[in-house]
Amino acid sequence: MIDAADKVVQDDERAMELFLQSRQRHQAAPDAWAQRSDEIHCLDCGEVIPPARLVAMPHTKRCQPCASDVERR
Ligand SMILES: [Zn+2]
Repeated sequence: MIDAADKVVQDDERAMELFLQSRQRHQAAPDAWAQRSDEIHCLDCGEVIPPARLVAMPHTKRCQPCASDVERR
């Protein structure tokens, strides 16, 4: 049985993996990387969404805790 907390941890690890891979690809073009890391704020709580999450889910509008709340509704 996988509970919600386990799923969140898995998503975090996956997001960080994608973030690191993406950053490696962008090392040759730091300007492009800097443009990509513009801060995006969560629709619900206003917190800055971590770049790793945006790399994994470029169209996300919420931070992970808020997105989890939405999914549970
Ligand atoms: Zn939030």
